Amino acid sequence: MTERPVSCARAGDLALLIGPDRRWQIVRLEPGQAVHTHRGVLVHDDLIGCPWGSRVVSHTGQPFLLLTPSLHDLILRLRRTTQIVYPKEAGYILLKMNIGPGCRVVEAGSGSGALTAVLAHAVRPDGRVYSYEVRPEMQQLARRNLERLGLADVVEFKTRDIAEGFDEVGVDALFLDLPNPWDYLDQAHAALANGGYLGSLLPTANQVTRLLAALESPRWGLVEVEEILLRPYKAVSARFRPEDRMVAHTGFLIFARALVEESISGPNAPEIPATFREDET
Ligand code: SAH
Repeated sequence: MTERPVSCARAGDLALLIGPDRRWQIVRLEPGQAVHTHRGVLVHDDLIGCPWGSRVVSHTGQPFLLLTPSLHDLILRLRRTTQIVYPKEAGYILLKMNIGPGCRVVEAGSGSGALTAVLAHAVRPDGRVYSYEVRPEMQQLARRNLERLGLADVVEFKTRDIAEGFDEVGVDALFLDLPNPWDYLDQAHAALANGGYLGSLLPTANQVTRLLAALESPRWGLVEVEEILLRPYKAVSARFRPEDRMVAHTGFLIFARALVEESISGPNAPEIPATFREDET
């Protein structure tokens, strides 16, 4: 049998440290530094060179797990000054909008860069994320966050009000995470490829109905509204049960496809209805 190669923590790596009470933190390992936790101190030099997946102990003898952080962990600990798109929505957005390696994706606004990071991670190495943001200080934060994660190379940040439109055309997917997406549907349609994916995340039902009304147009089809509830469990065999608390609401997801107007073709093409709605019930 071949032995599993052991990969070890190196200086400069991001490390996930999980204490006995499941409290966790992410640190960049730097020689000469130390992590101070409420369960004791861990010296970086002791961690550097340890195999990932090791149990390490603090100076008070408390055990910690030394692991590589996932993108999920990194997103939750991102420096932020805005609401962010949370992992439960971000993962689904990728599948729903068919975002993968090589895709060209537009998003607005950049905010703290949480969704930007997920998009960048998905489209690399050959894809591109074009991230628009009207507030320069927000974009600066998003850019720094992406740099820290080593994902900035596939992102083009643009400091602009998207009312002025997008520079790109023919993009695979476009996501609007801002309070009034209905105001920018013309700009979004102009940037998207025929049949391209539009997505948006809105916290209130009032905003959703306003966006739905704006999407009732021959330019858009396959409009869907969804909400994702994530129910965490106590992962203990002897008392396996849901956690006491859960996050009841983050936001509604709205998806649509960009259509070519007046495109019904073929010998038996019917009259094109002024408004094409799939479902009137
Ligand atoms: N998706 C981001 C959060 C976006 S918060 C994340 O996951 O971190 C919404 C952002 O949209 C704010 O930073 C706001 O400044 C920006 N914004 C609002 N209206 C805008 C517009 N018209 N053009 C560009 N950015 C806009």
